[in-house]
Amino acid sequence: MNDKHFETQAIRAQMERSQNNEHSAPLYLTSSFIFDTTEEMRAAFNDESDEFIYSRYTNPNVNEFVNKVCLLENAQAGVAFGSGMAAIYTTFMALLKSGDHLISCSSVFGATHAIFTKYFPKLNITHSYFNTNTISEIEKLIKPETRFIYLETPTNPAIELIDLEIINTIAKKNNLIFIVDNCFATPYLQKPINYGADLVIHSATKYMDGQGRVLGGVTVGKKELINDIYLFGRLTGPSLSPFNAWTLSKSLETLALRMDRHCENALHIAKVLETNPKLENVSYPFLPSHPNYAIAKKQMKAGGGIITITIKGGYEAAKQFLDKLKMIKISPNLGDARSIATHPASSTHCKLTEEERKIVGITSGLIRISIGLENKEDILTDILQALN
Ligand SMILES: *Cc1c(COP(=O)(O)O)cnc(C)c1O
Repeated sequence: MNDKHFETQAIRAQMERSQNNEHSAPLYLTSSFIFDTTEEMRAAFNDESDEFIYSRYTNPNVNEFVNKVCLLENAQAGVAFGSGMAAIYTTFMALLKSGDHLISCSSVFGATHAIFTKYFPKLNITHSYFNTNTISEIEKLIKPETRFIYLETPTNPAIELIDLEIINTIAKKNNLIFIVDNCFATPYLQKPINYGADLVIHSATKYMDGQGRVLGGVTVGKKELINDIYLFGRLTGPSLSPFNAWTLSKSLETLALRMDRHCENALHIAKVLETNPKLENVSYPFLPSHPNYAIAKKQMKAGGGIITITIKGGYEAAKQFLDKLKMIKISPNLGDARSIATHPASSTHCKLTEEERKIVGITSGLIRISIGLENKEDILTDILQALN
């Protein structure tokens, strides 16, 4: 499959058929697997065979999903999880120890920020944030106990871009593990491993599922790191369910098609909204007016499906706009076939202090719109009527 194109890999990287010769992957709803002999079970538990053992460890459907993501991300190995946060948390917990330090972009997913600030201090794990405008100063943040550089690009929800090549050079020079949350871009638009990332994490809940039905997460990358994450995960149990894995594997078959349409719709809508007098700002990676446009063009195939708009008039104006939307629903999800609007300051990022929100670029007038797969004119009409 390595010689095939993305679309073909996403469709054809399937598990082997059973004796029933099914064309599509069957669903293995079983918590455990059986062994013909005591010796076979002993060998499996001692990592001397790769027989399936128990679905907390892995399952044929979970393996199929992981193998597909590895192929699409150009990764050596991977582990799947019950959600994106399970992937992030398990990856950190497997690789960090008390006394360690990590460096992260300041604009990270709200729950990731909460783990850094609320729970890691209890374990004596510290962090430093870098601002996307000051990546030249990252090296000043590195300490002897620094283990990771962690980032999202494009960031959620500020839609800032970080140059993967530059960060990789810093990481390699300083012997740091380089981790990218590639949720917004998906491997179709951006492959961080090709820029040197050691690990790539996804909330599969978003574009990988793409239809707002199941939760899932996955970490892929260097085999020796993935081994540690897998072993920690199989003991602690943040496992992906076989049904969700089956759904995600099937959803990946249409990832390229869906992303093409998400990107086409989002670019069109961003261009039209850019000149709207009710808006202070429209942010989309592939708008030439975006401050990081050159980085986006360099490392992304297209701009993705998320735009942010900043309404003049702050929270009151943002609230009015959201409440006037008819077709587009207010919801925290993104990457769905249906367009979704979110007010980060009062919801996904409400646990941040006002000061912290300012640092990560979340103002009270900022609205994140996940542009769906509906007709782009219908999406635009709804946004424009609510603005007016
Ligand atoms: C949604 C999201 C997560 C968390 O994923 P869940 O599947 O909701 O646990 C992590 N990172 C980013 C960038 C996200 O958008």
